[in-house]
Amino acid sequence: MFDLMVRNATLPDGRVGVDVAVQGERIAAVEPHAVLAQAAAGREIDAGGLLLSPPFVDAHFHMDATMSLGRPRLNQSGTLLEGIAIWGELKPDLTREAIVERALAYCDQAVARGLLAIRSHVDTSDPRMVAVEAMLEVRRRVAPYLDLQLVAFPQQGVLAVPAVRPATARAGARSRRGRGRWHSALRAHDGRGQRVGAAVVRDGCATRLAGRHALRRVR
Ligand SMILES: [Zn+2]
Repeated sequence: MFDLMVRNATLPDGRVGVDVAVQGERIAAVEPHAVLAQAAAGREIDAGGLLLSPPFVDAHFHMDATMSLGRPRLNQSGTLLEGIAIWGELKPDLTREAIVERALAYCDQAVARGLLAIRSHVDTSDPRMVAVEAMLEVRRRVAPYLDLQLVAFPQQGVLAVPAVRPATARAGARSRRGRGRWHSALRAHDGRGQRVGAAVVRDGCATRLAGRHALRRVR
């Protein structure tokens, strides 16, 4: 007797008419329907021939900016640079409550579509640390059903905003007090989209900036 049986599924490798049996938290059997037709389960779900897959993973997202289309204005050029500029215009008016509300609404949509793991950048080029505090709260609230990893990311450039370096370091320290770690931000730019190198982030803290500016300690 299995705990759960998903009947008549299509698998990502193309197999159709497959039954998947689950025992506890583990997949116990993946077989053609004929093999498991007589097997009983506490709960059965008819997939109706639809795709059954592992959860989807979004490896790159900016959840602190989600659902903010048109705030404070639309991106007329459609370019990344104007998008970054608009984000800079919105930032002074951001509140923790608004970011949390929009991010949670997005998480509901994501989970409903099969996304159960998201890695999101979080802007640390803000001395108020509003987005950092908001996203740490979001991570805590979605933890039961969504694996949310946060990346300390100085959107306006490690070098362009004087407060960025201490803010990024504080984000790391703040994160280490909670569960989980921040993961490495892989690039850095000067705030105008010009790539200057790669930020090396270890245990949640940007420790080095490698590239045109040589090895510059961030903390
Ligand atoms: Zn990005």
